[in-house]
Amino acid sequence: MAEKRKFKKRFCRYCQQKVDYIDYKDLTQLKFSLSERYKIMPRRLTGNCKRHQELIADAIKRARQAAFIPYIVDRKRVVANPFELIK
Ligand SMILES: [Zn+2]
Repeated sequence: MAEKRKFKKRFCRYCQQKVDYIDYKDLTQLKFSLSERYKIMPRRLTGNCKRHQELIADAIKRARQAAFIPYIVDRKRVVANPFELIK
């Protein structure tokens, strides 16, 4: 379970950076809460607070609509760091 270890520290990243508004165009912020298949990470793994989790879920859904991130990822296209493809 090497993947789980990444989320061991439990704190809200967005509270720490004092983020009040999460921009759906700002992928550097969204990617903290996205899995490698572009799914929204659950709060129990990321440690986000409820307020920020709701903001991030909103932003991610908006970003999907605007085609910044894909809705689904092919099984063949799953890569270690999908965000290299975006930038
Ligand atoms: Zn927070």
